[in-house]
Amino acid sequence: TPVLEIRNLHARIEDREILKGVNLIIPPGEVHAIMGRNGSGKSTLSYVLAGKEDYEVTEGEILLNGENILDMEPDERAAAGLFLAFQYPIEIPGVATMTFLKAAINAQRKARGEDELKTPDFMRLVKEAGSQLNVDSEMLKRPLNVGFSGGEKKRAEIMQMALLKPSLAVLDETDSGLDIDALQVVSKGVNALRDGQRSMLVITHYQRLLNHIVPDVVHVFADGRIVESGDKSLALKLEAEGYANYGGEAA
Ligand code: ADP
Ligand code: MG
Ligand code: MG
Repeated sequence: TPVLEIRNLHARIEDREILKGVNLIIPPGEVHAIMGRNGSGKSTLSYVLAGKEDYEVTEGEILLNGENILDMEPDERAAAGLFLAFQYPIEIPGVATMTFLKAAINAQRKARGEDELKTPDFMRLVKEAGSQLNVDSEMLKRPLNVGFSGGEKKRAEIMQMALLKPSLAVLDETDSGLDIDALQVVSKGVNALRDGQRSMLVITHYQRLLNHIVPDVVHVFADGRIVESGDKSLALKLEAEGYANYGGEAA
């Protein structure tokens, strides 16, 4: 069973159809990248995967490990093993990052019918993940994302991913504002999750990220659907030639 299977997905926001028949299969353990020009619908795809309100699916299916997620609430999707990292992280004033991470893990456990994680067990997990990803424990005492640098926001997000151990992680990255340090955090986090079972969908506008997270398959997104797929060399070709061959306005 593929980790993710998207069949003929159509979705709209307000009265506008944005996704126009997306088909995508991600087998266990594979990392797939989606590249495409601004406005082609990449973020819309990640929002539809997340189950964000206002996005209406008009046709098609999304299966996560064989299970249809379209009727699930966002938290049920998370419990089923889906993790989404977004371009614009939310700030949570007054809540220490550590507290947020603990709540996220326990919400996932609760939805799976598991007991709450005891504080010492949680602290052990945080310590392991923190040392693997070079996340400083002082940072985790600060409120989530409030006054965080771009690199710190990434650390918090990747830390969350490492703790939740999703079956499918979707990263929607602009790359802008990602310095080398943050790029390394993201790629370390992603590469640490690669275990032959967990899969990843990395959405990006630029090829640079894919030097650090080498994808198994690269897809080109244009006008609301995947129009070409290939190996990692496709990303280099896109970087060199741009998206002019894929219709629409020039970037
Ligand atoms: P990408 O991530 O590839 O840059 P998006 O998914 O953000 O593309 O946007 C795809 C299209 O959907 C764009 O034309 C954008 O203007 C439109 N769009 C995105 N969000 C909304 C919205 N909330 N209301 C109306 N149109 C939207
Ligand atoms: Mg955009
Ligand atoms: Mg986008």
